[in-house]
Amino acid sequence: MQTYKAQCPICDGQFTLSGIELSEIVSCNECKSRLVIKSIKSDQVQLAEAPAVEEDWGQ
Ligand SMILES: [Zn+2]
Repeated sequence: MQTYKAQCPICDGQFTLSGIELSEIVSCNECKSRLVIKSIKSDQVQLAEAPAVEEDWGQ
């Protein structure tokens, strides 16, 4: 499975992700912020702060 490098826009922490898809919601390893995957380029993932939702995404 391919792994991707990601950087948290909230805390600037760097971590790796795998098995992800565009627009998926992930959590930062460092600050636990909810982040949405904005783009995937080769092995680099761009993240943005996820909009607050009350709905459960059913992870
Ligand atoms: Zn973070």
